[in-house]
Amino acid sequence: MKITFLGKYGGYPGKESPTSSFLLEFEGFHLLVDCGSGVLSKVQSYVDLKDLDACILSHYHHDHIADVGCLQYAMLVENKLGKRIEPFPIYGHKRDSKFDELTHDVYTEGREISVDRSIAIGPFNLSFCETMHPVYCLAMKIQANGKTILYTADTEWKEELISFARNADVLISEASIYKEQFGVVKGHLTGEEAGKLAKQAEVKQLFLTHLPQYGDQEKLVEEAKNVYGGPVQLVYPVLEIFIN
Ligand SMILES: [Zn+2]
Repeated sequence: MKITFLGKYGGYPGKESPTSSFLLEFEGFHLLVDCGSGVLSKVQSYVDLKDLDACILSHYHHDHIADVGCLQYAMLVENKLGKRIEPFPIYGHKRDSKFDELTHDVYTEGREISVDRSIAIGPFNLSFCETMHPVYCLAMKIQANGKTILYTADTEWKEELISFARNADVLISEASIYKEQFGVVKGHLTGEEAGKLAKQAEVKQLFLTHLPQYGDQEKLVEEAKNVYGGPVQLVYPVLEIFIN
């Protein structure tokens, strides 16, 4: 299984990076996880759009969906060119009317995800956990080939995430804020909290994403390492890792 990190920022893209997103690849299947600003451009360096198989969205904040409209136009063009017959599936939760916009004519099709059931998307099995965020948002447990990836999506500290992330091979955690912002900025984790989640869930390695555009991001790694003894790394475009 391969993870290609396409973007690292929360909120808005930077000159050198889209917003937080990654591409999962296994057995020739390509699953795009979140599709914020800059992602559609970046992903094309790694997979031809005709070979992209599905997209999944954690929630409907702009930094996770900004490029969905353009993705739909891309699928329209792919269809007109005869490169794609079936509607392109876009997975998201139904707790918001934005779900209805995931279906665009015959080109893309919205498909529901929920905490109530696990689903298979290609070779991946996924289950979900509600996070603590100003809008309804789902963390994802993604399993394939006996390995587990846990993606927190956007969240404030939530105890339930510890059991949900238990023993994951890879924890991809948001780390939107610095320790000194704790309690001031709501709805997000500090680097230290990401480390605390990694430690308490006993995951094998930690990647920090959804990073702030300001400050020294390495401090987020230091915060995490102060509480978690495993490997910690900031994501960047394009970091590729293999989990075998
Ligand atoms: Zn976000």
